[in-house]
Amino acid sequence: MSTIPPGRDEWDRIKTRLRAELGEDVFSSWFARVELAAIDGDTVHLSVPTRFLKNWLQSRYRDRLLALFGESFGTVRQIEFSVRSAIRPGSAPREGTTETAPPPRPIPFPAGGRSGATAAARASDDRDDDGLAGSPLDGRYSFESFVEGRSNSLAFAAARRVADSRPGEPVAFNPLYIHASVGLGKTHLLQAIAHSARAQGRRVLYLTAEHFVYRFVAALMAQSAIAFKEALRGIDLLLIDDMQFLQGRQVQQEFCHTLNSLIDGARQVVVAADRPPADLETVDERVRSRLAGGLLVEVGAPDVDLRRRIVAHRVAQAKKADPRLEVSAAVIDWVAENVVSSGRDLDGAVNRLVAHNQLTGQQIGLEMAEAALRDLLRAREPKKVKIEDIQRVVSKHFNVTKADLLSARRTRTVVRPRQIAMYLAKALTPRSLPEIGRRFGNRDHTTVLHAVRKIEEMASADRGFADEIEMLKRLLDA
Ligand code: ADP
Ligand code: MG
Repeated sequence: MSTIPPGRDEWDRIKTRLRAELGEDVFSSWFARVELAAIDGDTVHLSVPTRFLKNWLQSRYRDRLLALFGESFGTVRQIEFSVRSAIRPGSAPREGTTETAPPPRPIPFPAGGRSGATAAARASDDRDDDGLAGSPLDGRYSFESFVEGRSNSLAFAAARRVADSRPGEPVAFNPLYIHASVGLGKTHLLQAIAHSARAQGRRVLYLTAEHFVYRFVAALMAQSAIAFKEALRGIDLLLIDDMQFLQGRQVQQEFCHTLNSLIDGARQVVVAADRPPADLETVDERVRSRLAGGLLVEVGAPDVDLRRRIVAHRVAQAKKADPRLEVSAAVIDWVAENVVSSGRDLDGAVNRLVAHNQLTGQQIGLEMAEAALRDLLRAREPKKVKIEDIQRVVSKHFNVTKADLLSARRTRTVVRPRQIAMYLAKALTPRSLPEIGRRFGNRDHTTVLHAVRKIEEMASADRGFADEIEMLKRLLDA
């Protein structure tokens, strides 16, 4: 693949032409965040930050771009758009994260107003609507399916309060601004508010900032901007998602007016973004300070307990669709311990396990989980395991004391954990059988050998038991 150096100057010239053709606002709405990645033979590679933008440019501007690139580079025949990673620098991007987490379904383009929408303002998969339909809502994103934990309890409580407040009641926090890095449940919460408030008969509009921009630009082109503004101001609850994508000077002005008039009219506004208002670089200072003037809530990364409950919840949902599905508690624990990044990755993990199971008929065990989820796992260094660690983890897991493990007691509740601990000592440390015997209350090496064989035998006969052993290994190996 021969890549010639990207023609930055030509790209700048092409952008200047587009700006002149389209006007500042349209230009900055669609092209400000397009980057020239490479020109490779007859193909121009452009990168954009969102899938929405990619689809939009592909369906609206591909030909125009092709013509302009063709003028500068005679060889160019096609344009490829790619979506840049949405992960913010500093949040430890890992390979696979973006690709494994497609949105639940493609976002259809919102249609332009029913009357007088120009061809340019009408999207490819046009829907008939009244001009103020919001971005699509996902019925699965409800309060019931949201799992509450320490990292999101404040956001959850605030969202519920907003959803439950009656029209005309004083608005508690306005705007409510929820920020968190990708996959931590912002969209889920916003849509849960939308569903719940709508069910109570309130006029709700949920829009991604990008759709807001699209709506406004389309309305300008269709000369229905006034109707659009009027309609916007007639709602009870405005939810704007992914605020970091609000772009364009005139659009921001309009957004600012909308925000002010809704807030001043005691209508609730809820905004979500991947960063706090002060860090919204592309957003006007006035908008930022208005956004910062309400309640700011950050959703943090989920702890292991919350991750476990999210996974268990997902598994339960998947089980509704396929009752034969079996995912043991050990696998759920293991996923929660090892897939540490976000709700989205946890979702992806469960989906993948289910898909693997359905496609291959393979049972969902730890081995399969590890193979299927390899790229979601936190990078781990192999660790030197100590016999003390094994005794500690095993006694905690089986709720026996360390003294019990080392004692001569022969009750079953102690014998099995002791054998497991000895087996793990053999499997995870370089210690010899006699040495292990000594460390377990001065036992003979044949006792250790017997324990190792016994556990291996049980593990090969019993899947659940094998998973349990596997989980203990991973706990120790983490
Ligand atoms: P964001 O908008 O913050 O990037 P999303 O709301 O799209 O994140 O969440 C990503 C996925 O993770 C969704 O499928 C969502 O349902 C799930 N998720 C995130 N947090 C939770 C939670 N606390 N409870 C249940 N599901 C969650
Ligand atoms: Mg989101």
